[in-house]
Amino acid sequence: MLETLNAQPADALLALIKLHNADPRPTKIDLGVGVYRTGEGDTPVFGAIKAAERVLLETQDSKAYLGPEGDMGFVHALIPYVFGTEFDRSRVEGMQAPGGTGAVRLAVEVAARAGAKRILMGTPSWPNHAQIVAAAGLELKTFKHMTDEGTADLEALRGVLAEAAPGDVVLLHGCCHNPTGVDYTPAQWDEIAPMVAAAGVLPLIDLAYQGLGDGMEEDAYGLRKVLAAVPEALVAYSCDKNFGLYRDRVGAFYAVTGDAQALAHAMANGATIARASWSMPPDHGAAAVRLILGDAALTAQWIDELTAMRARMAEVRERLAAAQQIGPINMAPLGLQKGLFSMLPLSGEQIMALRERHGVYMAGSGRVNIAGLTTGNLESFISALRDVAA
Ligand code: PMP
Repeated sequence: MLETLNAQPADALLALIKLHNADPRPTKIDLGVGVYRTGEGDTPVFGAIKAAERVLLETQDSKAYLGPEGDMGFVHALIPYVFGTEFDRSRVEGMQAPGGTGAVRLAVEVAARAGAKRILMGTPSWPNHAQIVAAAGLELKTFKHMTDEGTADLEALRGVLAEAAPGDVVLLHGCCHNPTGVDYTPAQWDEIAPMVAAAGVLPLIDLAYQGLGDGMEEDAYGLRKVLAAVPEALVAYSCDKNFGLYRDRVGAFYAVTGDAQALAHAMANGATIARASWSMPPDHGAAAVRLILGDAALTAQWIDELTAMRARMAEVRERLAAAQQIGPINMAPLGLQKGLFSMLPLSGEQIMALRERHGVYMAGSGRVNIAGLTTGNLESFISALRDVAA
């Protein structure tokens, strides 16, 4: 039977990691995989996480099963950060998921069970979005996320919402858009919220980088604006970037509605899907986040560490933007974009030349991980760009 299986396309980013690892040049630069790096090129465990892990080690007295919804203390501790302290608690409930990926999968599957037919999504997007939509058997309708000038394309979103049909879900990145770094401005969110409400579509907001853009509160602006305007919504959240927990797989899926029975049913359906998929999410990272958010000193330490990450990325962006023009590439927008990623308008040949001549590894789309640029390699990256883009 197994011989009937088809080959699958290799994951381009994972292939890129292998190529980078195999490159013997000490000056090579990895701008591929989406993890934060310090100015020295490391992806350390947060001090606040280490401290919480020490507490866990000393105090955790059982690893008995929880349930498909995971650690509800963790799920509830995040609510004020995501939805705001003023949010009506009775309108939201959530469950833990294995990373933001698991949360997106739960959200899309729950939407499908609720009768969703189509997901409206700006492109380019995180490649896994389209895969998850396909896996859930939903149709994908794409629109342009970014204008040719490198700003968020509000008109494209307006157009797709104007033609929305019953059963449509609109998938929006809450902040730090992956892969473009191009976020809607607060003024654009002010327009988007009533547009989404008028279209009658179900918003699904993916918030995978809260705190890596402008700050924890600032990065929730769009989500909160939309939620204040609509009767119901779904949220997929990841703690893997803002707590540096990547491989521990820490995420949460939330449903929002004023209908108490619908809320309970959304959770019950999420739990059924989880049970049939992973049974229950991994505990460790979420327990560490719960401990941090339950302790004022650890919370302050975590916020300090997150603030330092953001400041470093802002500094790299400033230095890239200061290069102004590299051949035909206008570097100024990189200074305005948010989060880990931006896209450079490079051809396939230029991306290959960067790899072969300069040991610079980036995705074939031209997406670069801003945090891959360190104190030691930023200037050589700019010279390499000048060489291939001249
Ligand atoms: N959503 C977006 C937009 C992402 O970029 C990512 C990760 N790169 C995720 C969700 C999922 O993150 P994770 O599963 O690692 O928590």
